[in-house]
Amino acid sequence: MPDPSQTLRDFQPTQDFFIGIDSDGCVFDSMEIKHKECFAPMFIKHFELQAVSKYAREVWEFVNLYSKTRGCNRFHAVIRSLDLLRERKEVSARGIDVPAFPALLEWVERESKLGNATLDAEVAGGNEGLAPIKTWSDAVNASVKDIVHGVPPFPLVRETLGLAAARGDCMVISQTPTDALEREWAENELEGFVCAIAGQELGTKTQHLEITAKEKYAPENMLMIGDAPGDHNAATANEALFFPINPGDEEASWERLHSEGLEKFFGGNFAADYQQQLLADFKNRLPENPTW
Ligand SMILES: [Mg+2]
Repeated sequence: MPDPSQTLRDFQPTQDFFIGIDSDGCVFDSMEIKHKECFAPMFIKHFELQAVSKYAREVWEFVNLYSKTRGCNRFHAVIRSLDLLRERKEVSARGIDVPAFPALLEWVERESKLGNATLDAEVAGGNEGLAPIKTWSDAVNASVKDIVHGVPPFPLVRETLGLAAARGDCMVISQTPTDALEREWAENELEGFVCAIAGQELGTKTQHLEITAKEKYAPENMLMIGDAPGDHNAATANEALFFPINPGDEEASWERLHSEGLEKFFGGNFAADYQQQLLADFKNRLPENPTW
C-alpha cells in the first residue's frame, strides 16, 4: 500500500507563511452534536454499557469535550473512557464489567495512522481483537453521516480564512476521517481556502505539521489554529505558533484572530508576549482530571 501521507511530504510552499487549521470544534461548532448524538450512543450500544449509560455518557463527554483530551483521536478516546468508567464507583456498585481490549492497546502503541483504513486492514488480516472496535467505529461514521448536517462554521471563519489564504498556505489538520472533512468543508464552500485536507488516515496532527511544513517555512511563519491542548502540543512539537479557539468562547476567539491575531502573525509580532497572553487564557479552560 503506498504511503497515503506522501502528498503531504511532497507539498511545496507557495507563500512564505503556513497556517494549519483544526476542524471540529475550531472551524465548525460540531463537537457537541458529534459526541452527544453520534459517538456517545454508539459507545453505549457497542460496548454494552446500557446498564451504566448515564455514567458512560458522562465519561465520554468529559474525555472528548470537557477535559484536556478534548479533540483526541477516537481510538485513544475509547481507551481513556473505558479506563475512567471502570474506576467509577457507580459502575462497580452495579456489578457491571467494563470491557477491555488488549488488542486496541497494542495497536495504538505501534500504529501512527489510527484511522479506518489501517483498522480495516488489521481486521481483514485476522486481528480479531480489533473487530469490536471496527464495528463501533464504522457505526460512528454512519451515524455522523446520517445526523451531522447543516452545521455551519463559526461566525467570521470564512472572512478570517480569506485573510489567511491571501498570505499563507492553509491546510486542515485534523483527527477526523478525511472523507467526513472533505464533505464538511465542501458543504460549507470552505475547501477553496485550503491547499490540503489531512485527516486521521494521514497520521497525528504533530506528524501532519512535521511532514508538510517543518523545515519548509521559518518557525515564526508557521501558525496552528485549534481548540484543544492536542492542537497546541502539535504546534509546540514543531516550533510553530498557536492561536487558540477557546472552548465555550469560540466567537470571541475568531473575532480576535480576525481583528488582530493574523495581523500580528503576518507582521512578525505574534511570538513572545502575544503568544503568552493567548496561552494563559487557554490553558485554564479545561481540567485534566474529573471531579466525580
Ligand atoms: Mg478540535
